[in-house]
Amino acid sequence: MIEVEGLTKTYGKIKALHGVSFSIRSGEIYGLLGPNGAGKTTVVKILTTISKPDGGKVSILGVDVVRMPEKIKGLISSVPQENNLDRELSVYENLLIYGMLHKIRNLKERIYDALVRFDLLERKDSFVSELSGGMQKRVLLARALISDPKILFLDEPTTGLDPQVRRQIWDFIRKAKLEGRTVILTTHYIEEADALCDRVGILCRGRLIAEGSPEDLKKSVGNFVLEKLDGDGRLVQHVFKTEEEAYALAMNLGPPFTIRRSNLEDVFIKLTGERID
Ligand code: ATP
Repeated sequence: MIEVEGLTKTYGKIKALHGVSFSIRSGEIYGLLGPNGAGKTTVVKILTTISKPDGGKVSILGVDVVRMPEKIKGLISSVPQENNLDRELSVYENLLIYGMLHKIRNLKERIYDALVRFDLLERKDSFVSELSGGMQKRVLLARALISDPKILFLDEPTTGLDPQVRRQIWDFIRKAKLEGRTVILTTHYIEEADALCDRVGILCRGRLIAEGSPEDLKKSVGNFVLEKLDGDGRLVQHVFKTEEEAYALAMNLGPPFTIRRSNLEDVFIKLTGERID
């Protein structure tokens, strides 16, 4: 349903995207995972018609994103990384103005449903400036949902939020999938991509370096990691297909050691030699 082919983008001297290609299926949660500056937001800005690419093709449900941005805007909703709520207006006023600008039908009913869903009904008359960061994020999500979008873009939806709010947002994302929506999210949190995404595209310095389900990506590097400190106190990691193989080497090297399941960071390290965070 979303096709991205050979996407390139340059900001002055900085080449942010070097020919990125991937496709997203209807109804899946697709994660763009990568460190700061990898190009995740740039991809999302192009897909959501905020920014134009220098080259490549992008289409959503067969509609060309660059040539027909107005048509795309009716299909998608997004929660940007930067909070762009009007802080001097109430929660309700923010949703109302957004809904009027987007000519959303049954607006008052839809706002009420969104307020209930995000547990904001009691705070509907509060100024945005009076709300905690987690509450403001819930208002952004509520706003994205009032148009009942088929496709939802979430740029770093849980950055800077405490674990409890993060869990609430994860539940919301899972619910959006159960409702049949397609969700595209960017994150630099390994656990977030692992816990939520059906498929993950790993971005590094403007290139998509791997793609697949979290399970398949982890299997591709090995399922178990043996961690041990070397003589200089540096952490050395060895990756194995089976736990037995990991234990065999651990016994040879002697204690202390840790054996754990592999994660998406191990995939990133294997491919780039660097850590994500
Ligand atoms: P983050 O998680 O930190 O937002 P990201 O993976 O989303 O990172 P982008 O924001 O897409 O990365 O940035 C990719 C590269 O493009 C970075 O080197 C960044 O500095 C650069 N860049 C992004 N936006 C602009 C801009 N408006 N002007 C100049 N350079 C930009």
